[in-house]
Amino acid sequence: MKIVIAGGSIAGLSSALTLSCIGHDVHVYERSDVPLRGKGGGVVVLRHMMKFLEQHGHYTQKMISVPTVMRRRIDVNGTVLTEEPEKLPFSSWDTVYRSLCAMLSKDRISYGREVVGFTEHDNGIEIDIDGGEPVDADMLLAADGIGSRTRAKLFPNYESKFAGYVAWRGIIDESVFSPLEVEALVNNFTMFRDAGHMFMAFLIPGLDGALEPGRRRFNWLWYRNETDAAALHRHLTDDLGHRHHASISPGHLSAESFEELCELATRHLPAIFQQLVRETREPFFQSIFDALSPSFSVGRVALTGDAACTVRPHTASGTSKAADDAVALAEALSGDTELNVKELLALWAANRRDAVGRLLAKGPELAASFGLGSADM
Ligand SMILES: Cc1cc2nc3c(=O)[nH]c(=O)nc-3n(C[C@H](O)[C@H](O)[C@H](O)COP(=O)(O)OP(=O)(O)OC[C@H]3O[C@@H](n4cnc5c(N)ncnc54)[C@H](O)[C@@H]3O)c2cc1C
Repeated sequence: MKIVIAGGSIAGLSSALTLSCIGHDVHVYERSDVPLRGKGGGVVVLRHMMKFLEQHGHYTQKMISVPTVMRRRIDVNGTVLTEEPEKLPFSSWDTVYRSLCAMLSKDRISYGREVVGFTEHDNGIEIDIDGGEPVDADMLLAADGIGSRTRAKLFPNYESKFAGYVAWRGIIDESVFSPLEVEALVNNFTMFRDAGHMFMAFLIPGLDGALEPGRRRFNWLWYRNETDAAALHRHLTDDLGHRHHASISPGHLSAESFEELCELATRHLPAIFQQLVRETREPFFQSIFDALSPSFSVGRVALTGDAACTVRPHTASGTSKAADDAVALAEALSGDTELNVKELLALWAANRRDAVGRLLAKGPELAASFGLGSADM
């Protein structure tokens, strides 16, 4: 089949790879002018995806990881309360993104091209792409993220739902600190919990993928209940005064929000975490939303990644879910079958929505067990 993919981030690239592995003619249109550059943080390693790609002859060792050894919970004085072995392999968004880009042939992706509409007809689908001729294909795969324009077109009345809490996040080079200062954090997934908030920190590869001690980075996340509309408005207004819907990216937090973050850290966090926050040059902010598209396919259009379903970050599965969507879709669209493309997509969509719906439900359960979010969310 000829398949057009809208969006060239993790979901779009993963699907482009898995679908071309099984012989489909795939092209990705990414609206950003250049390959994406995350200053972004930690993600778990994409196990299913690596296995699938290796089975199809790709070398995936570059999707490397920094393994944690222990999960530790500390109190406000830094004393260890609980400690249990945990082998969670963490990678970073940048590392995963770069290795997906490297595996996909360059002529399969066009940058600076936005998918702006589509029209289905009897034998296919015509896709409108900003600044060019329409493209004919057998199907359109929307990998256009949480604010999916495709989802909005298919389901204009659907809205994602605020979960009642936010995440402050940051990445900081390990080398900013002396080895002794951060000794307790290396090799550990360290967390601190108190009423209405939870902080966690762990190591991820350096921006260039480096794994050597001293060249890695700490990734931290601080979830806090926040329902005060004025505070949300303040923190979602960037350094240039623009109001955003759900997040402020690294480098764009206002000075006022950064100051408030440091004050909150001083008041509520153990000293080691206060230090991580204060020394982070470009923290970022995200309000937590749940989204589950009413369906993952309509006719010849299918939704994947965050466009289909956005799960909470502490389920550690946003990126791996996108990769699993890609593997599941390729499995559904391979092999001999009597079914046509719309039937195959409908079948895949129903199964996949059911599977990720269960993952989505885990988010509020986990959050409630941490005292995050409101009971009715
Ligand atoms: C630069 C960047 C850095 C990130 N860093 C992290 C991180 O550190 N940790 C983390 O957990 N998650 C991060 N994320 C989010 C993470 O990628 C997603 O939550 C998850 O992996 C699912 O990805 P996705 O591809 O579905 O959505 P997204 O990553 O949101 O990607 C959607 C893509 O679609 C493109 N797009 C949107 N509309 C159109 C259109 N109409 N036509 C063409 N293209 C379109 C966007 O430009 C974007 O590249 C980051 C996302 C981006 C874009």
